[in-house]
Amino acid sequence: MIAFAALSVQLNCSLFQFTLPAEHRVVPNSQPQSIHNVEAHWIGHATVLLRIYDRWILTDPCFSQYLGPVKRFVEPAMQVEDLPELDWVLISHTHFDHLDRASLKALPSAKRLLVPAGGAIYIPGVAADSVAPVVDGTVVEGDGVRVTAVPAQHFGGRILIDNLWDGEPYNGYVIEYKDVTVYFAGDTGYNDTLFKKLGEDFDIDLALIPVGPSGGNSLLRSAIGQYVHVDPYEAVQAFKDTGARWMVPIHHSTFYRRGGTEMELILDSIAKSGISERILLVKVGESLGFDVQNDRATYLSRGESLSQTDAQSATKQAETDADELRPD
Ligand SMILES: [Zn+2]
Repeated sequence: MIAFAALSVQLNCSLFQFTLPAEHRVVPNSQPQSIHNVEAHWIGHATVLLRIYDRWILTDPCFSQYLGPVKRFVEPAMQVEDLPELDWVLISHTHFDHLDRASLKALPSAKRLLVPAGGAIYIPGVAADSVAPVVDGTVVEGDGVRVTAVPAQHFGGRILIDNLWDGEPYNGYVIEYKDVTVYFAGDTGYNDTLFKKLGEDFDIDLALIPVGPSGGNSLLRSAIGQYVHVDPYEAVQAFKDTGARWMVPIHHSTFYRRGGTEMELILDSIAKSGISERILLVKVGESLGFDVQNDRATYLSRGESLSQTDAQSATKQAETDADELRPD
């Protein structure tokens, strides 16, 4: 409960906050176009539905309206029952916004579910054929897909005191299938050694990097907050360190947004990155397609294919959209 209280304060909780519908809805394509080797659908927070060729992967499923006293600002961009049959479910750590028992119970089906070892006790009876506890470096392979648990700089424990026995389980994942490599960072602070090592070990195409929570109140700016989360500028630096081809910022605008300056900072960090055409800022429910062979990304929900010029205009569009979302 202490953790919940801290989370509530950190996430600027308000029970009276309106939850907005997602502007876009995720509609998984049952007959994927071959031009897009990879599709990434942002359902909200750290929940991303990935299709890599014919495999479906879901990260940190969280579809709940409330996490204890914490309420979403934006509804999930699809219903859990509309998910396709999942090949993999990847859980990064046990915090309530990443390991949501209600969502896991509701999952239609999954072949494999990976969870950091100490967090396995929190996995309910889910519709997964197998549940595999992992530690950093664990590799699990199945149906041609190779998933490696990789380090993160975060903290474990679901109710704080369980840190004493759960081994502080948290990690990210690298997913490799055919000629595609995707990095899901989970929840992490900035650590140049960690991210550069990932860049040495993997040739990453797409990096899903969590941004924040940052900005806003003093807790988020505290030394602890800074250690376990990346601010937008650190997220960009982490992306550069990994040498990945594209970055999609996640973990923002869902449970924490108003009362802070996060979106302004995200836009500024992208504008100053020098590689803005490689950082694909999407709104909750937006979908991206990647043609890895031809080095091309497409905003599927906007019908925009991204050359470098297109990418810059897409960033401008995101700025305009962000203006609309800013609190009065
Ligand atoms: Zn966390």
